Amino acid sequence: MGDADRVTAVEVAVFAPLPKRLTYRWPRHLGDPATAIRLLVPLGATQRLAVVERVLRLPASEADGYKMVLDRLDAAPLLPAGYRRWRERLADYYLALPGEGWEAVLAWAADEGRRRFRMVDGEQLAAAMPELAAVFKGSRRPLTQATIRSRLACHGSFWLLRQAEQRGWVEEVVEPLFQPDGMVSGSAPVTLNEAQQEAVERLTAARGGFRSHLLFGCTGSGKTEVYIRAAEQVIAGGGQVLILVPEIGLTPMWLARVARRLGRVGVWHSALKPRARHALRHRLARVDAVVGTRSALFLPLPRLGMVVVDEEHDASFKQQDGLCFSARDMAVLLAQQLAIPVVLGSATPSVESWHQAQRGRYALLTLPDRVGGGSRVATRIVDMRGERGVLSPPLLAALKQTKAAGKQSILYLNRRGYAPALHCTACGAVPTCRHCAARLTLHRRRGELRCHLCGWKRRASDRCDGCGEQALLPLGAGTERLGADLEAAIPGLRVARFDRDAVTTMAQQVALLQAFDRGEIDCLIGTQMVVKGHHFPGVTLIGVVQADLGLNLPDLRAAERWWQQLTQVIGRAGRGADAGLTLLQSYQPDHPWLRQLGDAFAPSVLRQELAMRREMAAPPFARWVRVVFSAQREARARKAAEALRDAADSLSGIEVSGPIPCAIERINRRYRFELLLKDAGRTRLPWALRPLLDRLPVPSGVRRKVDVDPMDMM
Ligand code: ADP
Ligand code: ZN
Repeated sequence: MGDADRVTAVEVAVFAPLPKRLTYRWPRHLGDPATAIRLLVPLGATQRLAVVERVLRLPASEADGYKMVLDRLDAAPLLPAGYRRWRERLADYYLALPGEGWEAVLAWAADEGRRRFRMVDGEQLAAAMPELAAVFKGSRRPLTQATIRSRLACHGSFWLLRQAEQRGWVEEVVEPLFQPDGMVSGSAPVTLNEAQQEAVERLTAARGGFRSHLLFGCTGSGKTEVYIRAAEQVIAGGGQVLILVPEIGLTPMWLARVARRLGRVGVWHSALKPRARHALRHRLARVDAVVGTRSALFLPLPRLGMVVVDEEHDASFKQQDGLCFSARDMAVLLAQQLAIPVVLGSATPSVESWHQAQRGRYALLTLPDRVGGGSRVATRIVDMRGERGVLSPPLLAALKQTKAAGKQSILYLNRRGYAPALHCTACGAVPTCRHCAARLTLHRRRGELRCHLCGWKRRASDRCDGCGEQALLPLGAGTERLGADLEAAIPGLRVARFDRDAVTTMAQQVALLQAFDRGEIDCLIGTQMVVKGHHFPGVTLIGVVQADLGLNLPDLRAAERWWQQLTQVIGRAGRGADAGLTLLQSYQPDHPWLRQLGDAFAPSVLRQELAMRREMAAPPFARWVRVVFSAQREARARKAAEALRDAADSLSGIEVSGPIPCAIERINRRYRFELLLKDAGRTRLPWALRPLLDRLPVPSGVRRKVDVDPMDMM
């Protein structure tokens, strides 16, 4: 059969939860097909986005059964070759459905409809594409792609626009890049100390090949300075640098500091407005560095020369819904694919990364000392047993003394709202969410009881639903109550709250931190938002309001995470010339972990934790996959989980436990069951699970979430 009898078709991954790739015929007017470009295809009665994975030549008779591609969004592949190989491995590893594996990675290119275009050469456009010219003619202002599509009745409007753009007849209107303003204090270039110097030299020597590094530097040891110097070298050599930070790490001050030093810096996070996204997307080839949260990993930087993952232990690098990927692990994989160095930095490394450094897989770079030595910090444990209030007398006394000395304090309590629960003193009932197996948090100022899992809320009242008595009282304390109690206990103390409820915009955050920096606030109360990277020399007192909070959760990583957070918190103290004090209020004052907080204990804590994980045959010594089934009908979720369990029982070398109800049994009206698969050899999972998942259809009404290397076990 000659080639003339064949027609062009494409195999695509559709952006829909389909287990298989689909084939469509390729219409000639869309130019030459290519892989890794997005299309619009018909699916049932709807139109969906899809990505080309393969271009096929099929016998005409065979192709007859396929539907036709409707439109083409991209002229050229959205990902360069290295990124494409990496994406494939990522999708394989996380057991992604075909569409899911692209959707997550191309999220930066979403909001297609909101890109704006204007006409540059009306005459040429009118001659070649009169229908498009007519659309522009009526309007003087730039038009969004969505508008152009709805005025152009014909299919293929994206492609028409792409061609007009390529010929220079229309152009995209892009905003200037977001530039952090100049809120930088003490930014005179510093002279690196010896340890910093060595770290920079080793990173610089690693250029031009793949190498993973763990930069283990205590709090305030100048890690950021190391990233910046190493990045400067990469940029001077014509390369680009990607710096990933945790969700709470993208503080305006930190950004301004990095941006001032690295030149053209693009900022990326999930709350970015579409116009700011387009601005960066448009300039990916021209920026020197991108700083962003986990999804910044997917921005294809054509000259990427180094990846930095700051605070690599942070749980926010793991995506918890959709494609549950770890941005930290995938950063290492990306560096490997692109043959470039990667550096993971932390004062409190994850057990995983520490293990890799111990076995020589990651080069260990150590910054053992605080810059400038820091000052002496004493740590004391306050026994809260028998204490009725939230603030103990020793903590109140220390707060007063600190104020009298003209110094500042930070109180840490990782709980939002006024109280994490209420209880009825008459019948003992605890108000719970209508849709989740969760207690409702009291937000007193708003007069609301709110569910922090699903967002459901109702008016707060002191009348119990169960017995009708007016006997509901708050149980425990959140930051809101802490603030109120503190203001009542120490009149005249200037208190500010720093959490997601009190601070909702970047501008508020800047204003608050600047006010604190200027000494206009005596005491900052915060959730984990206060943990990251702030450097306040005026702070001499840190109070951890409930030091055992989160220590005893039924989660493999609870203790590790608790230790990381508290060590980061107390690392905020003693950054100035004056001696510091840390007070840990605890109901379990004899807990051995309480005596191991602080930078000096990191290696021994990590050693103990690793020994325990080895004994339990838990990660990082084994590989785990957690599969959660959820449905509004309890029996359906359980049955679906059992079906996978039965199938997985046949896999050799893999231990299957469950199904059991999740620790949080119901979220958002859905009952949840989990199955945990464990591979002690780390060679068979997650890949061995793929054929089972492909074979077992997900029953209607059931959702199946596959989490490889789960971080959150609740
Ligand atoms: P880390 O990231 O390890 O917490 P930073 O890089 O933020 O530490 O450094 C803490 C502070 O010390 C910053 O204000 C920084 O400008 C300053 N600093 C860093 N390195 C030096 C140095 N070699 N000499 C003097 N100051 C430094
Ligand atoms: Zn809820």
